Amino acid sequence: MNLTGGCLCGAIRYEAHGAPHQRTVCHCSICRRSAGAPMVAWFSVKLADFAFTAGQPASYRSSAKAQRTCCPVCGTQLTFRLDAEQEIDVTVCSLDDPEAAPPQDHTFVSSQLSWVHVDDGLPRHAQARP
Ligand SMILES: [Zn+2]
Ligand SMILES: [Zn+2]
Repeated sequence: MNLTGGCLCGAIRYEAHGAPHQRTVCHCSICRRSAGAPMVAWFSVKLADFAFTAGQPASYRSSAKAQRTCCPVCGTQLTFRLDAEQEIDVTVCSLDDPEAAPPQDHTFVSSQLSWVHVDDGLPRHAQARP
């Protein structure tokens, strides 16, 4: 599988190879703030299977153990990576075809906003996927 995506303004482009796994909608407060949105959908690929193909994203530490990237021009959030992992999480909705990586579950629903109601029948985890 070859997935392509990028930011809203087009300055940053990426490619991801391999099957997108660990597909989740995260309701944690950090994802929420980083995207300015009530939840963020993610998929994972091996770090070696991901590459930026155009532009240079901005990166910052969103917590003591993780780093995120975004477009320095338009701000679209692109990736999340735990320092300890050889995996990278990519925002599903920065894909050219977000239908290519539908979610398998919801995570950190203990932080879900009271006005968010998702009735998709997917498993819901209070914190990270067990
Ligand atoms: Zn951009
Ligand atoms: Zn999150």
